Amino acid sequence: MTARHVTVHKPPEVAARANLRDYEVTRAAFTWASARAELDGLPGGALNIAHEAVDRHVAHGRGEHLALRWLGKGGEVRDLTYRALSEETNRFAGVLRALGVGRGDRVFALLPRVPALYVACLGTLKNGSVFSPLFSAFGPEPIAARVGLGEGRVLVTTEALYRKKVAPIRHTLPSLEHVLLVADASAGAERPAGTRDYEAEMRAASASFEVVATSPSDMALLHFTSGTTGKPKGAIHVHEAVVAHHATGKLALDLHPDDVFWCTADPGWVTGTSYGILSPLTHGITSIIDEADFDAERWYAILRDQRVTVWYTAPTAVRMMMRSGAAAARAGGAHALRFIASVGEPLNPEAVLWGLEAFDLPIHDNWWQTETGGIMIANYAAMDVRPGSMGRPLPGVDAAIVRRVGSGVEVVTSPDTEGELALRRGWPSMFRGYLHDDERYAKCFVGEWYLTGDLARRDADGYYWFIGRADDVIKSAGHLIGPFEVESALLEHPAVAEAGVIGKPDPVAMEVVKAFVSLKPGHAPSESLRRELLGFARTRLGPAVAPKEIAFLPSLPRTRSGKIMRRLLKARELGLPEGDTSMLEGAS
Ligand code: ATP
Ligand code: MG
Repeated sequence: MTARHVTVHKPPEVAARANLRDYEVTRAAFTWASARAELDGLPGGALNIAHEAVDRHVAHGRGEHLALRWLGKGGEVRDLTYRALSEETNRFAGVLRALGVGRGDRVFALLPRVPALYVACLGTLKNGSVFSPLFSAFGPEPIAARVGLGEGRVLVTTEALYRKKVAPIRHTLPSLEHVLLVADASAGAERPAGTRDYEAEMRAASASFEVVATSPSDMALLHFTSGTTGKPKGAIHVHEAVVAHHATGKLALDLHPDDVFWCTADPGWVTGTSYGILSPLTHGITSIIDEADFDAERWYAILRDQRVTVWYTAPTAVRMMMRSGAAAARAGGAHALRFIASVGEPLNPEAVLWGLEAFDLPIHDNWWQTETGGIMIANYAAMDVRPGSMGRPLPGVDAAIVRRVGSGVEVVTSPDTEGELALRRGWPSMFRGYLHDDERYAKCFVGEWYLTGDLARRDADGYYWFIGRADDVIKSAGHLIGPFEVESALLEHPAVAEAGVIGKPDPVAMEVVKAFVSLKPGHAPSESLRRELLGFARTRLGPAVAPKEIAFLPSLPRTRSGKIMRRLLKARELGLPEGDTSMLEGAS
C-alpha cells in the first residue's frame, strides 16, 4: 500500500488530553469573541500583542516560569523567565521612546537568532511601533529594498552584519535614523560612525515601561512573503492578530501550560514570528531557540536534551532528516515529544509516516500564508491523519474551494473537485494590506472571500488536499497536474531525497511534466536509475501524470524559508530570466 492511502488513527488517550477533542463540537461552539476573552486586553478596549505575550503572565503569577531558553552556536545557554523578558522588553521600549520613536514607526531587525531579536520584537510592540524582521542572511539589496519600502526608522543589527551589508547601502535609506548594534564576536574597538551601542542603551533604560494602549486595528508587524512566486510582498498585520496566534496555538498546536515548544523557523519569515516568538508566549510556556543552522544530529540532541514536547518544523527539514534514516533519529535514547507539526510546503505522505518510524508520532501538516498571519487549516492532535492532506479549517475559519466566474466566484460544493482555496474574510490575523500596493491587495478579495492563490480540493469528510500554487499547476494533454502529487510519488522511491516538478512547454501536449530529483546518500545519478524512476512514477501515477523527463541535481533551489523554487527550475530549464532571487538560499 502506498503512503497516500493509509489513515493514521489516534488512540483515545491522545484525544482525551487534547485541547480540541472533537472537531465538530469545538467548531460549533467557537467564536472569535470567546477566543479574545481568553486574553487580558488593556483598559478601554486596547489590545497589545506584547502585553498578552509577556506581561500578563507576570501579572498572573507566572513571572518565574521559563519563557525562552536560548542555545548558542557554541554551546552557550541563556535562560529568560517571563519576568526577565518583561524587564528586557521594557528596556527596549524605553530605548525607542528615548530616541523619539513612537506609535506606527517601523523598527527592523537584521539579527541571527539571538535573544536581542526576541527582545527587540516584543519591546517594539510594547512601544506601539511596528516590527519587521529580516533574514540575517540577506544581502545588501534585499535589505535596502525592504527597509526602503517599509520606511524603517530604526534597525537593530550586529556590527559584522552592519559593516558588510548595511553600511554600503545606508546612504540610500533616508528614513533610517537610528542603528543599534548588538555586540558580536567580531565587534571592533571602534563602533562604526552613525551607530549606537545596543547594550549601553539598554543599560541606561528603565526596567519599567507602561505598554502603549494600541488599538486592535493598529499595525503591529510587517512581514515580507517568501518570494517563492515572485517579488516578496509586504503584508501588514495588526495587534488583533494575537487572538489568532493564541487560538491557533491552543487548537492547532495543542499547547498546554507545561509544554516545552520548539519552532525551528527563523523569525525572518512569518512562522518564526507568529509561532517562533508570539504564540507560545501568549500561552505562557517555554520556547527553545537554537541559534545554529540545521544539523540533524544537533536537532535530535536538542529534542532529547531539552525535553521538547511540541515541535513545529518544515517539510524541507523533515526531508533532510529522512536522508539519514529513522535509525539516526532513534539513536541516543528517548524523547519527550507529544506533538509534531509542519508548515511551509506540502508535506509528502512519506514524510508524515516517517514521523511514526522516527518518533512514534505522525507529523501533522498545517497550511497558512504570510497573508493569513496564523494557521488556517490543520491536522489536530485528536483527529486521524490522512497523510498528504493539510487537514481541516480552524474553528472560526471558513474555507472553501471556489472557481472564478467572471468578476465573481462560485463556491464548489461537490467533493474532490479542484479549485482555488478561499477563506471568508474576517479572521483576526488577516493581513490588512500589502504595503504601498493597495491595488494588489484589493485583487486578493472577491466579495467576502480572500483568494489564496493556491489550488486544492476538499474530500467528502472535509479534509483539504493541496494541489499546487495556481502558478505552478501543469496543464498537460487536457489534464491539470499538481506538482505535489508527482513529487510525493517520486519521494516514495528509496533513492530520492527531494523532487521538484515543473511543466515544460510542449507543442503537442501544451506542457509535459519534468522532474528534477536529488538523491539520498549512497545513490548516484545514472541512466539506469533515471529509467527506473520514470517507470516507478508511471506505475504510481499513470502515463498521463507521470513525468516524461527526469534530471538529477545535487540539490534543488530553495527559498531561505526552505521552499522549492519551481519558477527558478522552470526559468533555468527554458533559459529565461531568473526574476527576483533575493530569497534564494545561498544568494546574498
Ligand atoms: P510569495 O507569496 O512571495 O510567492 P510564499 O507564498 O512562498 O511567497 P509564504 O507566505 O511564506 O510565501 O508561503 C505561503 C505559501 O506556502 C502558501 O500559499 C502555500 O503555497 C505554501 N504552503 C504553506 N504551507 C503549506 C502546506 N502545509 N501545504 C502546501 N503548501 C503550503
Ligand atoms: Mg504567497
